Amino acid sequence: MGTAAWVCFDCRSAVRRHTQYVGDVPCQNCGRLCVYLGYRIPVPPRRKRREWSALRAWLAQRQFDRDVQTHVDRIRESTALRNEIDRLEARVPNASRSQLVRRLRYRLERLGG
Ligand SMILES: [Zn+2]
Repeated sequence: MGTAAWVCFDCRSAVRRHTQYVGDVPCQNCGRLCVYLGYRIPVPPRRKRREWSALRAWLAQRQFDRDVQTHVDRIRESTALRNEIDRLEARVPNASRSQLVRRLRYRLERLGG
C-alpha cells in the first residue's frame, strides 16, 4: 500500500499519509482539517489556482452525487422491505413468518422508513 493525499484548499497544499491512515489530517500550514483526496487524483501545483478551484468543485459534486445515490438506495431498500412485509402479511400467519416480518420491520426502522 502507498500513500494518499489530504488537501487544504485554503493553502493549496497537500499532506500525505499511508492509505490505511484513519483520522483527521490537519494542514501543516494553517492547522485546519484537510480534505481526503485519495491516491489516484493528482494534486495541482500550488500556483494553479484555477485547477485547485476545479478540484474543489469536482470533489463537492462527487460528494453530492454519492449522497444522492445513498438516499436513492435507501428509498429503494425501504420500498423493497415494505413490499416484502406486505406480501408476508397477506399470507396465513405462522410463527416463522411473524418472526421474519419482525426482522424486516426492524431493518426498515433502522433505514429510517
Ligand atoms: Zn491550510
